[in-house]
Amino acid sequence: MRLLIMGAPGAGKGTQAKLIANHYRIPAISTGAIFRANIAAKTPLGQRVHQLISAGEFVPDVITTAVVAKRLLEDDAHNGWLLDGYPRTTDQVEALDIILEDAKRHLDCVLCLETDPETLIDRLVKRAEIEGRADDNETTIRRRMEVYTEETAPLLATYEERGLLVRVNGEGTVDEVAGRIFAALDKYSA
Ligand code: ADP
Repeated sequence: MRLLIMGAPGAGKGTQAKLIANHYRIPAISTGAIFRANIAAKTPLGQRVHQLISAGEFVPDVITTAVVAKRLLEDDAHNGWLLDGYPRTTDQVEALDIILEDAKRHLDCVLCLETDPETLIDRLVKRAEIEGRADDNETTIRRRMEVYTEETAPLLATYEERGLLVRVNGEGTVDEVAGRIFAALDKYSA
């Protein structure tokens, strides 16, 4: 199974991505997590993207696409994957189309976690207290929301037109949301 998980910052993508990955035995590949690991390890990539991420801005498409293309070639991604945080721009959608075409693969579905904007801010503020992510401060959260609305939310229409979009209610407990996701995804996992 090859799928994307989309939704606003704080919608619970990372949490649900891990549960989906365990359930279907596919790797959950998060561009944000890859960037954060590189920042923590002070790699050249980490140093290049650190400031942009702290400001809530996107990393340039060429960099992000190169990271994803390389990751999808690793052995564990051979039989399927879940992408969390990519694509986030129209150019990234096109880049992913090309990656898939080259590999003679296709997307099974695009999962969208839908949440109330108030829930999002609450969750991000709580996460800031627990995890201390550098981009979970109020100014950056607002910027990430803006960028999501401008650049990423419109991509949902693209995937909807392709008949790939599956909307899931992201409100409630982690288990409630996971239950809805598994119910919606089971038909793709055969
Ligand atoms: P969130 O929880 O806000 O959705 P992520 O962990 O997915 O955040 O990503 C954190 C940050 O990493 C983003 O705000 C952005 O700066 C950068 N990033 C992650 N994925 C992409 C992408 N596909 N394109 C550009 N920048 C990205």
